[in-house]
Amino acid sequence: MTRGLCTMCGRLGPIHAHHATGRPRPGAGYLDGALTIPLCPGCHVGAGGTHAVLRTVRLEWPAPGADFTAHRLRRVALHAVVAADAGRPLAFAPPSARALAALLREAATVIEGAP
Ligand SMILES: [Zn+2]
Ligand SMILES: [Zn+2]
Repeated sequence: MTRGLCTMCGRLGPIHAHHATGRPRPGAGYLDGALTIPLCPGCHVGAGGTHAVLRTVRLEWPAPGADFTAHRLRRVALHAVVAADAGRPLAFAPPSARALAALLREAATVIEGAP
């Protein structure tokens, strides 16, 4: 397991690469494989951790028929709220910036209705 700084609690130790936008369904590949947030195991999968919050707000999986772009944006927004509530910066793993840029550009294209 990689060691690093947990985005949510700020502790140094073992970290998981949490995929901010998740998967379209169990067992499928990640929607944005390079868009990750470093989280300690407790903040990731512990009680009250990020996945527990995602389940509570029904963003762990896209709803049936959901638009995947909208779902991905809602998950990024949720992570921003969780970080803000914890008084922490929203920090993605460094290689994530290009993946976030690609998601935002894709969303802008959808909004503009461009091909
Ligand atoms: Zn943590
Ligand atoms: Zn995760």
